[in-house]
Amino acid sequence: MTEAVRCKSCQLNQYPTARETCRRCGVALFEKPEPVAETPAEPSTPLTFAERVARELRTVRRKRGLSQGQLKAITGQPRTYFSKLENLKASPSVDSLTRVLAGIGITPYQFFLRVEGVKNSSIWADPFLSEIAPDVTRLTNAQRGEVLRFAQRLAREAEARP
Ligand SMILES: [Zn+2]
Repeated sequence: MTEAVRCKSCQLNQYPTARETCRRCGVALFEKPEPVAETPAEPSTPLTFAERVARELRTVRRKRGLSQGQLKAITGQPRTYFSKLENLKASPSVDSLTRVLAGIGITPYQFFLRVEGVKNSSIWADPFLSEIAPDVTRLTNAQRGEVLRFAQRLAREAEARP
């Protein structure tokens, strides 16, 4: 059933071998299928802080099931204002952001935990941890590492106790 093919290089008409190269000159008898062009991965530039704030504003508003119109009714700010905030067309003042967050029903602390990627972590339900949490978010990475190592040491010591 194999059909004869002509070598594009030396023009020899032949039945292809298993290797599918020309019996005379050795070039490949069949065009290799074009390798599927790898779609370049989206450049994953990390979001700026302002972008994360805007994204999180939209996320928490929707999670609360609030439309921009409803938020307008609650806060008295024009609906377009929320649209601008969520699309980075406007940057809120601290006062304004606090009012908006109050309208959404989230504390600034909880909101910025989310902005920093700390979401629904059950450890923050712990009274002690929730008390120190605001300070933890102010720590540098190095300080956070120190705290973590200290906590691990305490945990090991607690385990070692009979
Ligand atoms: Zn050939």
